[in-house]
Amino acid sequence: MLASVFIPAVSAEEVNVYSGRQEALIKPLLDKFTSQTGIKVNLVTGSGDALISRMQAEGELSPADLIIMADAGRLVRANQLGLLQDINSDEILRHIPASLRADDNHWIALTKRARPIMYVKGKTDPYSISSIADLTDARFAKQICIRSSGNIYNQSMIASLIILDGEQQTLEWAKGIVNNLARSPKGGDRDQINAMVAGECSIAIANTYYLGGMLTSDDPATRAVAQQVGVIWPDQDANGTHINISGAGITKYAPHKAQAQALLSFMLEQESQQWYAEVNHEYPIIEGVKWSDELASFGQFDAQKVDLETMGALNDEALRLMDKAGWR
Ligand code: FE
Repeated sequence: MLASVFIPAVSAEEVNVYSGRQEALIKPLLDKFTSQTGIKVNLVTGSGDALISRMQAEGELSPADLIIMADAGRLVRANQLGLLQDINSDEILRHIPASLRADDNHWIALTKRARPIMYVKGKTDPYSISSIADLTDARFAKQICIRSSGNIYNQSMIASLIILDGEQQTLEWAKGIVNNLARSPKGGDRDQINAMVAGECSIAIANTYYLGGMLTSDDPATRAVAQQVGVIWPDQDANGTHINISGAGITKYAPHKAQAQALLSFMLEQESQQWYAEVNHEYPIIEGVKWSDELASFGQFDAQKVDLETMGALNDEALRLMDKAGWR
């Protein structure tokens, strides 16, 4: 008891974050939180799956207070494994629409990310495509670039389609996409955009923040590639364009729950949301936040209205469906 007298209160305030997001995409925000609150942030980054396994292994002794993940699927999985607890703060939860958080309030979205169709300006008429269903047409034979089924963004996209269109129709769509692939899936979303501009395909499916990042790259060659690319928001008269989220949850055994709540509140503040929208080109969760010029240039769109928890829970089924369709 006496010993604690000599420990300054400020240094005792800390929060341990396990992040499936890259350090560069989160560190500046965490530093700002520390300078505003005096709460030190200890950041561990890794793949989402690796961090979940680590927490399972650590059990009750896990130092993690908060997990941050780049997709709903992993948050749902962490919650199903019993690794999270109720965020338990009206101050935080009132900002988040019900579809963008867990039913039990064990995780929330922090940003939205959209996965539309991309094309090369001047080569494809964007008005000739209104739905992702169009991409299975014979006119797009050997013209589609998209990454592998092992990627969680595609698993989430398929899971959403299962919810909206049913399993059979989604399987037919996936088969149609596989049938029109320009090459067997490889690389990440940026690679699909690069391959398209290089002429390997005429259509790519990719998250918009990759294109935003390329447009603001320090490398002139990367910018030049991105400037040739246009965005098509599919299914605007139907179910809307697929979105995913980045989000966070407080861990079940969080040693610093109050500090984790403070960090979540901070990440939902106007300025933090703006930082995400301007630096990471992700869509804010709260209203009234200005988008980056790049996001604004892609235009407004209607998003799929899918419950993210249901989507995350269908992840394994989505993977099985893609396997059935021959999507590797
Ligand atoms: Fe990503």
